[in-house]
Amino acid sequence: MIQPNYIGGEWRHASEAIANINPSNTNDIVAHYAQATHADVQDAIDAAATAFPAWSRSSIQLRHDILKGIGDEILARKDELGMLLSREEGKVLADGIGEVVRAGQIFHFFAGECLRLAGDRLASMRPGVEVDITREPVGVVGLITPWNFPIAIPAWKIAPALAYGNCIVLKPAELVPGSAHALADILARAGLPAGVFNLVMGSGSVVGEAILRSDNVDAISFTGSVTTGRKVAEACVASDRMKKMQLEMGGKNPLVVLDDADIELAVGCALNSAFYQTGQRCTAASRLIVTDKIHDSFVERLIDAMHGLVVDDALKPEASIGPVVDQRQLDQDLRYLRLGQEEGGRLACGGEVLARATPGFYLSPALFTEIDQTMRIAREEVFGPVAAVIRVKDYGAALAAANDTRFGLSAGICTTSLKYASHFKRNAEAGTVMVNLPTAGTDYHAPFGGRKGSSYGPREQGRYAQEFYTTVKTAYTLPA
Ligand code: ADP
Repeated sequence: MIQPNYIGGEWRHASEAIANINPSNTNDIVAHYAQATHADVQDAIDAAATAFPAWSRSSIQLRHDILKGIGDEILARKDELGMLLSREEGKVLADGIGEVVRAGQIFHFFAGECLRLAGDRLASMRPGVEVDITREPVGVVGLITPWNFPIAIPAWKIAPALAYGNCIVLKPAELVPGSAHALADILARAGLPAGVFNLVMGSGSVVGEAILRSDNVDAISFTGSVTTGRKVAEACVASDRMKKMQLEMGGKNPLVVLDDADIELAVGCALNSAFYQTGQRCTAASRLIVTDKIHDSFVERLIDAMHGLVVDDALKPEASIGPVVDQRQLDQDLRYLRLGQEEGGRLACGGEVLARATPGFYLSPALFTEIDQTMRIAREEVFGPVAAVIRVKDYGAALAAANDTRFGLSAGICTTSLKYASHFKRNAEAGTVMVNLPTAGTDYHAPFGGRKGSSYGPREQGRYAQEFYTTVKTAYTLPA
């Protein structure tokens, strides 16, 4: 059975489908998913555009109730949906379930936000004139999502889009259509008018491009690689109506460890930041910038802790890390492992392809030492369980190294010094700063996004999501 697309309120079959393969066991096919054609995408966009006038003026109570219902169902089915997610993406089951819970909470948060959208009223320069500032929905939004958070990222784009009255065309990543399809099934039964939400599965080059090139799409929210992000930006600017855009892309996030750090806490932060979820989080730390005096003991204890990580089938309860997502990503990780050594780094631990009971893309977490900031392993995003330790002499050098990157998503520091913590919070060039916490792991009610080459456009999540999913109107009235 092929899982269909959802277009204009109906499930639509396609002649082509792809198999969704479990990276923990490549003999296990999760299901087959329809690949949308160019014409399917056009129909989805037309359906969204047709639904927009009514949905954009719909009752906020109705929107609240629908979003609340979606959140309720996601939470009620967290175990089953978490299992599906872990099966298709390869993160361990506890993380899969945790991500599903997060998605449910996001829908609940934005159910409340439907009722809280506010405007402003100003006095005018001209006596008797009223100035009203209101927020209106943007229109048809194209949501293009990556494989590493198969339900949370679609949720944190869909929920605010609906809350503020937009219509949606969602294109999930080819590798993980299952979670997005399950979410679409919940949305299809939630009471949304036909066309408000559409799911088109397929490749970036067909489905993604068709969304980008359409003149009937008003805005694009994209999460993925830097290379694709740039293409998205170019297409948005080139289109007749200059699509609004929001891009979340890569990172090369630093975690600074100072001499005065609580070493146990620092090792825990590094282990989590660099290796949990197989290092496949855009907020993962891949540069551990460590001051001289603590360097050797930190590295020794981190390697000890790495030996305690169990790499295995994501569905096994004892697994602390699942497989890499696919062969292409594994090849990339292995390329960087070779490159790091060729550049003069020392592979101090891990980096081995592992055999397990089932065929999968298993890689032991890898730690490089003797890395400096000029090496490619310290500058380019690997997106795997690979971290590099960079030795520096003091806090000043650590901050300079932390900021010496074209990215700026998340930056962490482990220190017991209030002085250095405060200075780092102010001076780290990143959208998110973590003090004595892992670089990954954010709250859903707080804004998320980065600086420099990591992000473009307004922040996602929390109240700040309204910057992207609404457009401001200023009305001047002379009550005559
Ligand atoms: P990754 O390398 O991590 O898969 P991508 O940036 O390639 O990251 O993918 C993120 C999302 O962008 C996916 O849904 C993918 O299908 C989509 N995508 C890839 N290429 C294009 C493109 N040319 N136009 C639009 N979307 C694309």
